Parts: sequence; structure tokens; C-alpha cells
Amino acid sequence: MVTDRPAPGPLEEVRIVLNSDDRFHGVDHAADVGRLNRFLALAGSAYGPLPRSADLEPYRTFRDVTRDLALHPSTATREAFNRIAARHPMTVEVRESAAHLRRAPSSGRSAVDRVVGESIASVHDAMVTGEWQRLRECERDDCRWIYYDPSPTQVMRWCSTDPCGNVMKVRAYRARRAAGGAT
Ligand SMILES: [Zn+2]
Repeated sequence: MVTDRPAPGPLEEVRIVLNSDDRFHGVDHAADVGRLNRFLALAGSAYGPLPRSADLEPYRTFRDVTRDLALHPSTATREAFNRIAARHPMTVEVRESAAHLRRAPSSGRSAVDRVVGESIASVHDAMVTGEWQRLRECERDDCRWIYYDPSPTQVMRWCSTDPCGNVMKVRAYRARRAAGGAT
């Protein structure tokens, strides 16, 4: 397990999606479905597997728009995110207790639609709680990993204790595993 800085609850799934674009290693784990599914499994994600190559483009589009929304929000980025969200309606059911509230992407959709739909709901929730503002990009130029900053004053600058070199080594190993499928 990489000892970087995970996000709380369902926001961690979004963070994993964002980090499937591993810029430091020049690796896009969403280059093919086998690779993406290995990455999600290694990261401990509840998402996936995505069964079809046709899933990759909507996955990457959502990921890249959402990364921009986290790091460089602009009117154009918000509009792009909202266009994706409009194609992923949610079903909400209220029950007798909060523990049984149910919210899910509307039925009859593909695996990638469920991943995107769940992620959109988690982004929304994180914006309401303020957790969204705590997703940050590692300031090391050769890292750029997305991490969660739980500090009260949000002063963390790196994805792990400085330097984050050891974390990056582990990540490189995992990237090779995900790419090659070796165990
Ligand atoms: Zn880093």
C-alpha cells in the first residue's frame, strides 16, 4: 500500500480515478482496459472492472475534466463537468433512517457510466462538505500526484512526507505491475 495521503470516504475513489493519469511516469493507466482494471484493483478501488475498450474515452474525458475542476477551476471547466453530469442522472430513495438512504446512478447504464455517475455524486458531496478544496496536486514537478490535505490550514505541499521520492519509487513499481500484469 502506498503511504500517500488518501481522501476520506467516497472521495478516495475519485482521487484514484484522477491518479490513473500518472504524469510523473508518463503513464496513462487508462490506455487500455486491462491496464486500467489492474490499476484500479491495485489501488484498492471499488470501481471496475470496465469491460469494453469503448469505456476508455468517456473515462478519460471525465477524469481530465474533473482534474481540471479540482486544480484549475474555470467557467469552461465547470460547464464541461456539468455537461457530463447531465448525462448521468441519479436515483435517490429516502428511507426511515439515514443509514438506509440510497442514491445510485439510474439503471440500465454501462460500467463506465456507473463509475462516472458515482464519482460525480462524490464530487458534489465533497463540494458541499468542503473536502473538495482539500484535493491538491503534489508540487514536485516530477510527481504531480493528487493527494488529500487534511491539515486545518491546508499548507501541505507534497503528496507524502517531503521528499516524496520513496512514494514515487513504490508508485513506479506499481505502474510497471499494472502495465505488465506481472505479480
Ligand atoms: Zn509527490
